[in-house]
Amino acid sequence: MDRFSRYFSTNRERFINEWREFLSFKSISTDPAFHEDCVACSDWVRRHLEGLGFSTRYLPSESKPVVLGERQGSAEKARVLFYGHYDVQPVDPLELWVSDPFKPELRDGRMYARGAQDNKGQVFSFLKALEALIALGVQLPNIKVLIEGEEESGSEALHAGLPGWGDDVQSDILMVADTGMVASGVPTITMGLRGIAHCEVSARGPKVDIHSGIYGGMVRNPLQALSTILASLYNDDGSVAVPGFYEGAQEPTARERDLANSAPIHVSDIEGLLGVPLAGGEKRFTPMERRGLRPTLEINGLGGGYQGKGGKTVIPSSAMAKLSMRLVAGQDPHRILSSVVEFLKSAAPPGIAVEVSDALVGGPALLLPVDSDVVKIAQKAIQRAFDRDPVYVWEGASVPIVSLLAKASGAAPILVGFGMQEDNIHSPNESFSLKQFEEGFMYSTAFFSVL
Ligand SMILES: [Zn+2]
Repeated sequence: MDRFSRYFSTNRERFINEWREFLSFKSISTDPAFHEDCVACSDWVRRHLEGLGFSTRYLPSESKPVVLGERQGSAEKARVLFYGHYDVQPVDPLELWVSDPFKPELRDGRMYARGAQDNKGQVFSFLKALEALIALGVQLPNIKVLIEGEEESGSEALHAGLPGWGDDVQSDILMVADTGMVASGVPTITMGLRGIAHCEVSARGPKVDIHSGIYGGMVRNPLQALSTILASLYNDDGSVAVPGFYEGAQEPTARERDLANSAPIHVSDIEGLLGVPLAGGEKRFTPMERRGLRPTLEINGLGGGYQGKGGKTVIPSSAMAKLSMRLVAGQDPHRILSSVVEFLKSAAPPGIAVEVSDALVGGPALLLPVDSDVVKIAQKAIQRAFDRDPVYVWEGASVPIVSLLAKASGAAPILVGFGMQEDNIHSPNESFSLKQFEEGFMYSTAFFSVL
């Protein structure tokens, strides 16, 4: 047993009690009714960091408080900025919870509470690692800890503030612990996150819904026109047909493809879970490559005309669809979005007005180079803490704030988290096992030990 495991077992009960306090705050950021709880929770985080020897302050925010803790260390070492969030998702439906989401309960080695994993559990395992590192006299770098309170509701304060916070957040390495493992006990480095952009498209025809017998064959049907436009977005090989859609997209390297395909995630398991074959996307890539390493365009909603019971013989006056795209490294989300908007508008046939609204960019993609120093540090830390190699995954989802934070801080991001599917984040009975909590703790202590 190494000194960090020993520190963990000696202090386990106190860790659990402090973690319970953190979990008791109803820091639901999306609901204004819980604003004071968010403020109280941010204050708790500040006091906790101060207890560890950090100086703390709030960064200017018009919405939820953003906590910044700082501790000076060795100037010889790479500076570290840690990012996490103290806010949580709403708890409804409350009746599905076995215990009160804000009265943390330990059952069978798992802590049940809203935020138990996402992100309070993961943040707290990091804070306790800092405590152990300091207590055991490990020489640390300059460390900044940024804990925001709006990750679950759009990170408003960070979006507004980050462009001007360069000096406050400047660092060399950005540690993020808001991701998961592919399987229990399999430490995982998340090598990428996709960028995201959205828009809504409408096709308008006659002023009102009209009789399909009187006008059918004379007037162009907006639903038919929109369906044709949407179908023209894709090629037969599953690729996106919009000119410029792949502009800038970095072609995955052979090594990235190898690592992505060797993660212990089985296509048959996913197919079993979903009840469908993984038949979407570009045929020239495998499902794991298509998910994390390639851009995609999806139709998220489609509507128009009569949708009630029975038939109604109308030509609808309009039709609409919602689209979103997931983008990869090298792509400028604004450019790709405007290529899509241009394509949609120019596809309008005579008699139909195509309009695009709500065109929004969430943020660009993030990609960690396989051979980068920071990935090597994480790999070494994982080998030291778990005596095995990590697994590498390219996540298909988007966490826009990580890309923005990496840009503002100038730091190289490294994403290692210990979440699991069974933690039920955002759902009733969210939990985090003490095993995962300890894994997070061991990883962070090893990370600073090998830095
Ligand atoms: Zn979340």
